Amino acid sequence: MPSDVPDSCLCYLVRKTGKSQIEAGIERRPLHELPAGDLLIRVTFSSLNYKDAMAATGQPGIVKTFPHVPGIDAAGTVVESGSDEFRVGDSVIVTGYELGAGRWGGWAEYVRVPSKWAVPLPAGLSLKESMIYGTAGFTAALSVRALLRNDIAPQSGEVLVTGASGGVGSIAVALLSRLGYSVVAVSGKPEKSDWLEQLGAARIIGRESVVDESSRPLLSACWAAAVDTVGGDSLATILRSTRHGGCVTCCGLVGGASLLLTVYPFILRGVTLAGIDSAWTSRENRREIWNLLAGEWKLDHLDQLAEEICIRQIDKPVDQMLSGRHSGRSVVVLNSAATSLTDRL
Ligand code: NDP
Repeated sequence: MPSDVPDSCLCYLVRKTGKSQIEAGIERRPLHELPAGDLLIRVTFSSLNYKDAMAATGQPGIVKTFPHVPGIDAAGTVVESGSDEFRVGDSVIVTGYELGAGRWGGWAEYVRVPSKWAVPLPAGLSLKESMIYGTAGFTAALSVRALLRNDIAPQSGEVLVTGASGGVGSIAVALLSRLGYSVVAVSGKPEKSDWLEQLGAARIIGRESVVDESSRPLLSACWAAAVDTVGGDSLATILRSTRHGGCVTCCGLVGGASLLLTVYPFILRGVTLAGIDSAWTSRENRREIWNLLAGEWKLDHLDQLAEEICIRQIDKPVDQMLSGRHSGRSVVVLNSAATSLTDRL
């Protein structure tokens, strides 16, 4: 191990202390406890995603074994490499796979991962910018690309984005607007209307506008397409309200995991439901999407989308996220240029 790599690191550890009791906080753990992998990365930034909030509070379905370190995103510098592809000193991004879910993740000063999980930080993007996007931005970009692949063009009509003030939603609004689409943002936070307009929303409607509890199989066809991050009744309503030949992407379930509808939107209007999975998408997809986010699709004023927080301050945004009160992105600082978490003790 190189001399500047310590033999232990600080991490945000989640412990199960009872059947449904969780304790979490910053702890120092030996580096040898990190899971196996041929790449050791000194994490500069991670971020907060909905899945992290679930993992940090021990909610079922994400974490299989405790103690656990959340953090499905990590951006940092390679400090040990057993791979021909990466050298010590390279800047890399790791998102998804099992990071922060099936194994210890990016809310730590160091992560060890299989090198095939890492992508080089593309030119045009800083480590911090990569984590402003994080899995949320990456997922938004996958969703936008799905619309493009289904021939949804700016002139096709209005494109709906649900959960618009959230991580995926806010970046989807900004990306679609940047690409010339007329975006209708669906949000439960009227106080975020000005901000959503600044991001590029043409208009903002309330969550209730996209929930129709009638049993009508088809509703008035309004939307050319949609990026849905909410699922449940909202997704079912949107699919029933999408125009002929439209496309609706589905990535999330904050509003529910059930989808109750008939086949009519698909067989009478030719609507496409495009599933989005960021965690296990191929490396080719990853490189392509990160290059778009760093280049052609790069958002101006990325900083407006994110707050920067130290890992020690993570509990409040986690609570806000789980209760639907969080907005935008939270970038989590582990080792910034001048300061490490250890220095802050
Ligand atoms: P956030 O918490 O940042 O955003 C979710 C937004 O949804 C909230 O800000 C809120 O926006 C809205 N919302 C919250 N609760 C409800 C509710 N009960 N009903 C309707 N709307 C609600 O989460 P992310 O953006 O990080 O993730 C969004 C979803 O996408 C999550 O389910 C997450 O697990 C999933 N996801 C899936 C990925 C994949 O690969 N498939 C990758 C990344 C995320 P507003 O107040 O503006 O309405």
